[in-house]
Parts: sequence; structure tokens; C-alpha cells
Amino acid sequence: MPTLPRPRKRLGQHFLIDPNITRKMLKVAALRPEDVVFEIGPGRGALTQVLCERVSRVIAVELDRHLFDYLAQTCAQHDALELHHGDALAFPYDTLPGGTVVMANLPYYMATPLLFRLLQERDRIDRMVLMLQREVAERMIAEPGSRDYGLLSVVIQYHTKPRKAFIVPASCFRPVPQVDSAVVCLAGRPDRTPADVRFDAVFMKVVRGAFAHRRKTLINSYREEGWDESLMRRALEQTRIDPRRRAETLTVQEFIALAHFCSPPLL
Ligand code: SAM
Repeated sequence: MPTLPRPRKRLGQHFLIDPNITRKMLKVAALRPEDVVFEIGPGRGALTQVLCERVSRVIAVELDRHLFDYLAQTCAQHDALELHHGDALAFPYDTLPGGTVVMANLPYYMATPLLFRLLQERDRIDRMVLMLQREVAERMIAEPGSRDYGLLSVVIQYHTKPRKAFIVPASCFRPVPQVDSAVVCLAGRPDRTPADVRFDAVFMKVVRGAFAHRRKTLINSYREEGWDESLMRRALEQTRIDPRRRAETLTVQEFIALAHFCSPPLL
């Protein structure tokens, strides 16, 4: 048996030690034998080993060279496993087959950038079952007007249907993290057209402009960002959104309506 590499906090290494949690994650993912799973940060292989027994193909990317070498040895018997060494942000996502299922216990320090990266690839991803900080999970599912509702909630709910599946106490990991985690399931929105994909960029600009100055009214936030005020007033009027409202009170549907009035030349 190869020596177990020491955990590196810098890389967000908190390893799952409770097999009940991996079982529960598999249940949430509702995997079929023919599924292809993409795993970010397989670590010591707590999830990877069981995935390899469940599905025909597991593509896993690990940044830590020592863990990569450890896994290459301890998982050598699994033909299903394709192990990559590198940063998941730089992974060639165009090599993943359509309908891929993403599963991960995400490193905390990278959870949000990785989420945004995965959303860019959502047309080849069927669903994601992700473990992350409980507080981040609460923000993903938050409703307009609530304390946790913000840019992350709007973007996640625009792209997917998020569901908090279960809480994972800090005691289920080694080393023990300072906060609890949660598992979320992000199911994709089916039947997207190329026009929807082009619309994503406008939508993101409109949402980022609104949240750029969270404590200001919508119209002030857009003005501060250098947007044409009269055009924005007209767009808000057309969509019946009061310019004195704050970004955190708008529903995803209202952001979509507003973005439809903000065609690319206006941005
Ligand atoms: N999946 C394992 C488990 O549940 O026990 C490990 C989870 S641990 C929270 C996060 C893992 O992601 C670590 O193995 C870490 O080395 C790896 N990691 C951190 N940053 C990464 C990155 N940018 N790309 C790929 N893997 C990364």
C-alpha cells in the first residue's frame, strides 16, 4: 500500500471519512451503469472508488501531484477510471460527452469559480451533485429578498434547478473543517436553443451590473457602472421594475425580462 500523502490545507483538503455520506450522494445522483461521471478533486478516492463500481466511465481531475500518484496506484484495478492531473478550471471540458454527471466534494477555496466554470459547460452536463460549504449551498437556493439572496443565487437559478439534498456535519471529514457542508443537486434546464446560449452573456452583464453596488438602488448601480441612464430607465419602465428597487429583490424572471430589453448594442 503506498504512503498516504499528508493533507494540504492550501488545496482545501478535507477528506470524507463517513461511507454513509458517499452512499447518500450516490442516491441523490441516481446513477445508471451507462452514465459518465466527471469528478473534481478525487482526493484519497472516497467517492471515486464507489463511482468506479457503479458506472462505466469516471473522469477525475486532481490538482495535487502526490494524491494523483497515490490514486493512480490505489485505483489501478478500475478500468472505468480516467485520472487526470491538473487544475479543474483548466480542464478541456469539450472532451466530456453530452449528458455527463458531475460529482464532487469541492475544495472550499475554489467552490465559486469552479461552479461558474461548470455552468459555462452546462449544455454537456446533465446534472451535478456537489458537496460544498453549507453557507454557499444556502446562497444557491435563497429566495429574492432573503438575507442570502445574491448574484450566486440568481446565476445558479437561471441555469439550473437547485435542490439542497442534505447537510453534512464537519465531523464527517478529516481534517475536521470549521464549518458544516451540504450536498446540492443541480438539475439542468433541458431544451436550450443557440439563441438561449447567446442570451446568457447579456443576462450575466445585466445581473452583474445590478449587484455591482448592492446597497444602491438599481438605477444608481447601473449609473455607477457607467450604463446609459435614460436607456436603463426605459428598460426598467418597459419591464415594470421600479428603478428604486435593489438588486436583491428581483426575481430571476425579472432579470430575464430586463435582459431582453438590454440588447448587446446597448451594453
Ligand atoms: N473527493 C475527496 C473526498 O471527498 O474525500 C477530496 C475532497 S477535498 C474537499 C478537495 C479535493 O480537491 C482535494 O483532493 C484537492 O487536492 C483537490 N483540488 C483542490 N483544488 C483543485 C483544483 N483546482 N482542481 C482539481 N482538484 C483540486
